[in-house]
Amino acid sequence: MSGADTADSTPALAGALASDVPHDRPAFVTPRTYLEQGRPVMPPRALTAVDREQLDGLRTIRAFLKVRTSYDVLPLSFRLIIFDTALLVKKSLNILIQNGIVSAPLWDSKTSTFAGLLTTSDYINVIQYYWQQPEKLAQIDQFRLNSLRDIERHLGVNPIETISVHPERPLYEACRKMLQSRARRIPIIDIDDETHRAMVVSVITQYRLLKFIAVNVKETQMLRKPLRDLNVGTYSGLATASMDTPVMDVIHMLVKKSISSVPIVDQDGIVLNVFEAVDVITLIKGGVYDDLNLSVGDALLKRSDDFPGIYTCSVQDALATVYDTIRRSRVHRFIVLDDEGKLKGVLTLSDILEYTLLEGEENE
Ligand code: AMP
Repeated sequence: MSGADTADSTPALAGALASDVPHDRPAFVTPRTYLEQGRPVMPPRALTAVDREQLDGLRTIRAFLKVRTSYDVLPLSFRLIIFDTALLVKKSLNILIQNGIVSAPLWDSKTSTFAGLLTTSDYINVIQYYWQQPEKLAQIDQFRLNSLRDIERHLGVNPIETISVHPERPLYEACRKMLQSRARRIPIIDIDDETHRAMVVSVITQYRLLKFIAVNVKETQMLRKPLRDLNVGTYSGLATASMDTPVMDVIHMLVKKSISSVPIVDQDGIVLNVFEAVDVITLIKGGVYDDLNLSVGDALLKRSDDFPGIYTCSVQDALATVYDTIRRSRVHRFIVLDDEGKLKGVLTLSDILEYTLLEGEENE
């Protein structure tokens, strides 16, 4: 039996190699061929003009990020809301909603130090904690932001994000730090000349960064290769839910997969909506956690009227179009659909940032 296998495989291997060798060289099999782990070495595919243009576009964006600093991204005037760690969780939620923001740097006024960045993940941790111990729900009103660490320890999850970047460091460094830590935003921290203490200057989000690129680097228009030919976005193992899925199940999916959104599909895979991590804030506003018993369909009805909508694209679209949309709109992800509106994949700002910074980097 094994002899027959060997006899069968030899011509197939020789055939595969014969088609891969240049015509001017004879096709033959040597003993070394069998040491090549069964995979004939393919000559690198010649780059097309579109491939080269794409790489040139990426290089231009990276060069731009290396000569710009985090300061450059900041608008001339902006407001910064910082939470004292002694603030009640309930109050922090109301302040976020009133100001239309979804995260804030934390300040420990006892030690006068920056205490990390509060994000939707921290509220999701609070929800999970109470879900596991409903008997503690009565105490939730007294809960303060400085107790979040205890919750993290209890849940065994990653502690509050404490990466940061100095405002005068190249923007490229802020991007790399965000990619390494999988953070979706990074605080800019300066050191006060007099007190030598850390000072929070602002926070840069993935959106603000990609928008800065989209507005300032016209070479984003060189990224003309369609998504289907690129290694960007997620197209398999997608976490999805239906309108009837309990919203708590969707929240567990966000945590388990470390993702910021779950597409809501019907039985044919047609995309109806997207539940986003930021939707959690609206659900628990006022410190009332009852809405967590809703189905995701009913939970989405609670969204505010200024919800910007869902952005979609197809695998025929190129990153040039994606950057163009980021330049014009406040978009956080693209849901990739086929011609019938069925879910094919998800392309998030993390994916776009990672591709823009790292694609082909090992060959540079
Ligand atoms: P995000 O935090 O949403 O930027 O996503 C982090 C990574 O997870 C990215 O590579 C996304 O493509 C991927 N991702 C986002 N949403 C989903 C989802 N619903 N199912 C599977 N992967 C996802």
